[in-house]
Amino acid sequence: MIVVMNPSATPQQVEQVAKLIREMGLKDHIIKGTDLTVVAVIGDDRKKDRGALEQVPGVDRVVPILAPYKMAARESKPNRTVVKLGNSATVGGNQVAIIAGPCSVESRAQILDAAAKCKAAGANALRGGAFKPRTNPYSFQGLGEDGLKMLAEARDATGLAIVTEVVTPGEVELVAKYADCLQIGTRNSQNFKLLEAAGKQPKPVLFKRGMSMTLDEFLQASEYILAAGNGNVILCERGIRTFEDHTRNTLSLSVLPELHLRTHLPVVIDPSQGTGHARLVPDMCKASVAAGADGLIIEVHPDPSHAMTDGAQSITPDTLATLVASLKRIAAAVDRSV
Ligand code: PEP
Ligand code: MN
Repeated sequence: MIVVMNPSATPQQVEQVAKLIREMGLKDHIIKGTDLTVVAVIGDDRKKDRGALEQVPGVDRVVPILAPYKMAARESKPNRTVVKLGNSATVGGNQVAIIAGPCSVESRAQILDAAAKCKAAGANALRGGAFKPRTNPYSFQGLGEDGLKMLAEARDATGLAIVTEVVTPGEVELVAKYADCLQIGTRNSQNFKLLEAAGKQPKPVLFKRGMSMTLDEFLQASEYILAAGNGNVILCERGIRTFEDHTRNTLSLSVLPELHLRTHLPVVIDPSQGTGHARLVPDMCKASVAAGADGLIIEVHPDPSHAMTDGAQSITPDTLATLVASLKRIAAAVDRSV
């Protein structure tokens, strides 16, 4: 960090700042400019309370320099992280992964049908919630372990890796027993005990950005999973809350180039929660691939008008097949493949 002094700060006040920095076990380096004096801090200050220095008389502001996330930062790893999903997909390599399936597992017949149709349409992995974090307690909460068993059967039938959500730390082990990748949803993005529990088990984690989270907070939260021992983290943008109301959320695609600069972790886009409307999903998928997405997680339902959850934003398998054909061309234009 750098401590910027007020123009009127006295030499005694500058010395007090330098002394406090040394008390923190760090080194100080005083730089006197023509108008201002700044005190640079040498050493890793991330475990210190930087804000406390702002209380010293004569201090104008404290500017952090080191990224507050160590393991997620781009510079911490020479190569980009490539995450394997079961035996059917990789996320973060040259190929753009297509994770498709219904919002929720509704029945054995529904998930087996959806899995077969998604695979035929070009998907590499299957999504489907067995534990659903619902805004309303009376809404369908998912089939729980029965739903996980149905997903496992769908994997056996199609070979598609399973991505499914875990909602509580206590269910991490159960979900990890069936899933190839644990999804952590937007509503749990700062449930740090859940993030740690997901970090202590071996399956990859698809981690969604909180709906009101800055990118800095998103990366710091992902650090909980990494620091607990699990390096296989996929970041997922699913839209944020804004004043805009023509979509369910505002799908912020500029996070793609920005996250690729800040982190080595792969980034996937969820255009379904991101827009809330099936009619908007294909174009947002195309824009995402053009902007460097490492994967897409798309809600696909064989019969959207009878879906138990998120029918309005679910595309059909036929739409997925047409979309995948376009995505192949767009991917080729940006030196990727689908
Ligand atoms: C979902 O994927 O169905 C879901 C609930 O996502 P989110 O956590 O992004 O709302
Ligand atoms: Mn959904």
